[in-house]
Amino acid sequence: MKPKNPQHPAPKDAAIRAAISPVICYPVAALPRPDPAPFQAARAGWTKQSETLVPARDARCFSVPKGHFFRITCVDGPQVGDLNLWAADDLSQRFYSGKTRALHGTHLSTGDQMWSSFPTLRPMALITDDSLDWYGFDAFGGAVHDVIGTRCDPYTHNLLSHGGQYHHCCHSNLTRALADHTGLSLPEAEQHVHDVLNVFMCTGFTRDTGQYFMKSSPVRPGDYLEFFAQIDLLGGLSACPGGDCSAEHSSDTASCHPLLVEVFEPLKSPQGWAPPAPNGYDRSHGRGDQA
Ligand SMILES: [Zn+2]
Repeated sequence: MKPKNPQHPAPKDAAIRAAISPVICYPVAALPRPDPAPFQAARAGWTKQSETLVPARDARCFSVPKGHFFRITCVDGPQVGDLNLWAADDLSQRFYSGKTRALHGTHLSTGDQMWSSFPTLRPMALITDDSLDWYGFDAFGGAVHDVIGTRCDPYTHNLLSHGGQYHHCCHSNLTRALADHTGLSLPEAEQHVHDVLNVFMCTGFTRDTGQYFMKSSPVRPGDYLEFFAQIDLLGGLSACPGGDCSAEHSSDTASCHPLLVEVFEPLKSPQGWAPPAPNGYDRSHGRGDQA
């Protein structure tokens, strides 16, 4: 956090320096942004291929073939979910929360893509519908579906609680779910768990101190976030022990509910859609002889 009483005096031109307008880091006008309409049209007549009920304070993995849709639905009571995505055939290719944030902003909605890690850096999933898109940003600067948080984890909990041991943080839930799904050991699986899309979670940064905050999620039963798989995906979803994240997480005190994941196969591919190729950078990093 920035100090309330800086140790260094402001220079004479401080106000001039601060008054310079910001520029967008990544002008995304050059980035092809898919039109959601053909994807939404492709939902007509789709058939449900599978469903997975993620128990409260636990996680499950699910598979989504490319060209299929998946929906995460609040079914029982206000509940947030922590979502990991991997390429189905390569766990090292995984969702890159930080770059997705840099490209699309702090909170995602319809039309945004979930990007993969280096070196593939390509869209893994397109958000095709968001029943909470009406929420926008509230008066506190809060919004839903963030890529600014990480995932609740037992290590941070241990630090902040002076040695506490809690085993149902989203990090541990996702680790167990991935181990169960793949047959990896817990230490092996843990290395593949990564920063998440915080589905339904309402978060922001305080205006005065810039601290990460959460507040009671506006999600209600029936609300959903829907995705189109751009590549073959393995997903992991944890029903966070924070429930609606109105008070705390990393404990068993919050009221928690399950989340439903459904996978749908469309009758035909959305018009104009083709699976995205891996990123085109040649990976020579300035040394052509080692490309
Ligand atoms: Zn969590």
